Amino acid sequence: MPTYQRIKILEYMDKHRDSHPTVEMIYSELSRRLPILSMTTIYNALNAFLEKGLVSAITITGTEIRYDINTNPHHHFLCRECGRIIDIDVECPFARGKEKDICGHRIEEVHGYFKGICKDCLKKHKG
Ligand SMILES: [Zn+2]
Ligand SMILES: [Zn+2]
Repeated sequence: MPTYQRIKILEYMDKHRDSHPTVEMIYSELSRRLPILSMTTIYNALNAFLEKGLVSAITITGTEIRYDINTNPHHHFLCRECGRIIDIDVECPFARGKEKDICGHRIEEVHGYFKGICKDCLKKHKG
């Protein structure tokens, strides 16, 4: 795959860290400037990034894969109202980035999914 397209995808991921984009979101934005780009190209690029540990995959919504360029161990919060996926920083003994054994299993990744109503949506209810 042309390196140029991969760079553009990584650039998009970096600019939209907070949105945890899907393949579709990346495609709809980048295809305007890169008409030759296809969904398959983006999907393959993201799989390559996953294998290299450049991004991680988040399945918090249960219906789609969201990609995260922030590979520091952290958990996620999904707002049921606006659908935003927000990085949350909580004390978590497992999210330290160090491999641990639990019940004899080697743990390499920990994903914490929290769901509820975000602070902005809560404000709208009050106001
Ligand atoms: Zn919200
Ligand atoms: Zn994240």
